[in-house]
Amino acid sequence: MSQREEMPLDVLFVGGGPANLAGAIHLMQMAQKQGMEIEIGLIEKGSTIGAHSLSGAILDPKALAELMPDYQDKGCPLEYSDLKDEFYYLTPQGEFAVPYTPAYMHNHGCHIISLSQFTRWLGEMAEALGIMIFPGFAGTEVIFDAAGQTVLGVVTGDKGIGKDGQQKGTYEPGVDLTARVTVFGEGPKGSLIREVGNRLGIFSDRMPQIFETAIKEVIRLPEASEFLNSATRVVHTFGYPLGMDTKGGGFLYQMADNRVSLGLVTGLDYANPSLEPYEAFIQLKHHPLIADIIQGGKVLQQGAKTLSAGGYYTMPRLAVNGALFVGDSASMLNIQRLKGIHTAMKSGMLAAETIMAAFAADDVSVDVLNTYESKVKASWIQEELWAARNFSQALSKKGVGKFFHIGAQYLTKGRGFSDPMPIEKDSSTLRARQASTHEALEKDQTYDGELYVDKLTGVYLSGTQHEEDQPCHLDVLDMDICLNQCRQTYQNPCTRFCPGQVYEMATEGEARLKLNPSNCLHCKTCEIKDPYDNIIWNCPEGGGGPNYTIC
Ligand code: SF4
Repeated sequence: MSQREEMPLDVLFVGGGPANLAGAIHLMQMAQKQGMEIEIGLIEKGSTIGAHSLSGAILDPKALAELMPDYQDKGCPLEYSDLKDEFYYLTPQGEFAVPYTPAYMHNHGCHIISLSQFTRWLGEMAEALGIMIFPGFAGTEVIFDAAGQTVLGVVTGDKGIGKDGQQKGTYEPGVDLTARVTVFGEGPKGSLIREVGNRLGIFSDRMPQIFETAIKEVIRLPEASEFLNSATRVVHTFGYPLGMDTKGGGFLYQMADNRVSLGLVTGLDYANPSLEPYEAFIQLKHHPLIADIIQGGKVLQQGAKTLSAGGYYTMPRLAVNGALFVGDSASMLNIQRLKGIHTAMKSGMLAAETIMAAFAADDVSVDVLNTYESKVKASWIQEELWAARNFSQALSKKGVGKFFHIGAQYLTKGRGFSDPMPIEKDSSTLRARQASTHEALEKDQTYDGELYVDKLTGVYLSGTQHEEDQPCHLDVLDMDICLNQCRQTYQNPCTRFCPGQVYEMATEGEARLKLNPSNCLHCKTCEIKDPYDNIIWNCPEGGGGPNYTIC
């Protein structure tokens, strides 16, 4: 333990997303019902709850209705609830409506939401119950016991350290937040769960975690837009611009106040080092089907985030001594349904029930906390994720062959032709051959600064801000690899896959990789996709990063 100030709690939730907020609310509800006093704290690295929350998003309210049956009366922010879907295969200039959509893609009974607003509202519900919420506090280190086998809490990062590593006048030391149980709900590719994984091997013997990167905008349409008067609320696309060899697709959802949510999700197991997810997103916007809908519009907000796409076989061990793992951190997103908010919330609630039982037994060892895994397996999370256990793997197949696998899985309740189907780690899938042919997507995009915006304008529209004078939060482990091996073989794909234009090759003088960490959207794509695993993403000073309000 360090010499910092210590703040002891009963339960510490690390991360202010739906999984942890639902968990904290459920725990407090149960404790209050039993007349039990409990101190629950929740830290969030964003400047406010919801500032780093970004998703499509369509919410299946299953878990929310279990947590708070009267959520509509409590003012839960919903955009639309009566959802009619359309699904298209796109060619470069045209589209084919898909006549049949599988049952798992139906959105009957679901709501379109802004995840940042929804998360903020959950935060208000949590605070009203007496949960201590600390936005602007980044967990930077896990506290273990002397034997290194039990999680005791986390350290929050110091504030006021300069680029040179020296304390500035504004210096504020971090705090040791200790707890009987710590719940990690950091979202995809969390930096603290990585530390727990390295120490306690929770990811060993599992398939590698795999991810997709979503780039999304909220666009205001002109009042006269025909689309706003159509009954269609939800449009999904596949095919162009990613083609059939790269996993992913587009989405467009109607929001209230003449707005739409438009995005493209790109599977990070793509092979072509020239691919640039941001450019692909702009190409989707220029496709006639989408361009017609959004014409005359103006981008209000933009952002990017990764999502855990691996599902069932990539879930880590869910408990260790003193800690539990929930939501996207534990790979619980159902990629088949393109939804993870409901599974994340349910996992948080099951974690809360496990904690209550552990406190009753006065035992927070893994022997007792492991009942969380049994609870997940006995719940509808298991039912959903088991049915989709090979889905992401099937989508990763090149060409139309993927549809044979998907069809077989549909008929065999997820088993398909091979079970489990193997997954390749996202950082291993780039193919150098393609780099030399430069099969890049067309890049002569037109930007008008209103409806079609370049990357830097997108960063501005995400509200991203960081303290400029702080140590760089991106560790490039070996710059020689960047300047020699990676440059030769893949032409530095970090300069393309990063949606924040954080990585740039200096064009004047000697070759040099220049970093602009202040632009970072905290999406983690760089740590996931770098072909040499040469980039480590660490938490910058708390309060930095995007400031999403309607994404
Ligand atoms: Fe995302 Fe990494 Fe770029 Fe930040 S630096 S925006 S985490 S890819």
